[in-house]
Amino acid sequence: MQKLFAAAKELFFPRKCFFCSKYGDLICADCAALLDVSPVHRPDRGKKYLADIYSACSYENRRAQKIIHALKYDPFVRELAAPMAQIIAGHFALCGQDPKDCFLAAVPLARKRLRERGFNQAQALAEELAKIWRIPIAGRCLEKTRETRRQAELSQSERRNNLRGAFVCPDAASIKNKNIVLVDDVVTTGATMEECAKILRGAGAAEVTGICFARTER
Ligand SMILES: [Zn+2]
Repeated sequence: MQKLFAAAKELFFPRKCFFCSKYGDLICADCAALLDVSPVHRPDRGKKYLADIYSACSYENRRAQKIIHALKYDPFVRELAAPMAQIIAGHFALCGQDPKDCFLAAVPLARKRLRERGFNQAQALAEELAKIWRIPIAGRCLEKTRETRRQAELSQSERRNNLRGAFVCPDAASIKNKNIVLVDDVVTTGATMEECAKILRGAGAAEVTGICFARTER
């Protein structure tokens, strides 16, 4: 029945590629190839709480920037979360990683930002990854208590204060002794993910590994 609905929807609202408008997938195979998904993993093990960070694309790729922008800014193309999650999962598999037995968590937004946007783009990616990998999303394991500034805009000392105390774990039982895959759309320095990992590990998570759609060049 669900397949029938999907087929009917395709008939009346045929999907076009976000980039080239070709009918078919939301990101066609040709345009997906131009996203230059990395077939290898470049480890990032310099962090204390985060085991590693995986990134599917480079944020220097203009198409990657464009798709992230479309997902998180008005007019939101929220459906992009599904093909973006496929791309993240594809990269993870190419790196020989299998997230079975893990729980997913998303880098949260502060309440005001969440209200403005109507949804959390990292959560949308996590929900799609949960479907692809058939693993659960951890309960209320991360909340952002206040707005923070972009780390890239700040000096070294401002950076430390910017994130301090910005995240809490309201439900430690949901992550206790679990391996967490922490999802975000973009990673730059990784400081935000590291702060989230600190909170999760402090609340009892066994290991926290970050994944994102795109990362700025290191
Ligand atoms: Zn295309």
